Amino acid sequence: METVSRRRFFASGASAAVTAFGFDLRPAQAAVRELKISRTTQTHSVCPYCAVGCSVVIHTLGDKAKNVKPAVVHIEGDPDSPVNRGTLCPKGASLKEFVNAERRLTRPLYRAPGAKGWTPMSWDDAIPKMAKLIKASRDKAFEAQDAEGRTVNRLSNIALIGGCTDTNEINYLLSKFRFGLGILPYENQSRL
Ligand code: SF4
Repeated sequence: METVSRRRFFASGASAAVTAFGFDLRPAQAAVRELKISRTTQTHSVCPYCAVGCSVVIHTLGDKAKNVKPAVVHIEGDPDSPVNRGTLCPKGASLKEFVNAERRLTRPLYRAPGAKGWTPMSWDDAIPKMAKLIKASRDKAFEAQDAEGRTVNRLSNIALIGGCTDTNEINYLLSKFRFGLGILPYENQSRL
């Protein structure tokens, strides 16, 4: 059997590690990877952590049967993305833990005026409620003209904040929504 010194073992890195001592572990490693993502469905998405916007592929296990809860078992960089070309930084590489975290918010929360706590709400209740509150706020503060009689059509008691994973298309639609209502305070990472 070939003798490998400690120095040579570490200096030659992973390739020596997989072939040292006369064994080639690469087929076994490839088999493990195949097992991890075999039978998964793949969903393309964007890492939510920063404005780089790396593309990811989410592997989900579950045959979509009614009584089966799908489970995200692996998330990796999308090799077809011109942004990250299959790579992810350590934050992006930990996305599976974020998706599966027990404390992750999955429902809208509402805090009533004067209330100390937040109440979970369904989307069916939250969307009409938001629409009513937006209309009430707009009716209250919309300015068609300024003090000098100039047309301004503006609203400054509602603000919009975009997220770092919002695509150009989402930001375009948000801009349409914003200009349609006359909202002035607006911020997102594409600086539209
Ligand atoms: S993987 Fe890292 S660099 Fe890429 S978007 Fe996520 S946090 Fe940003």
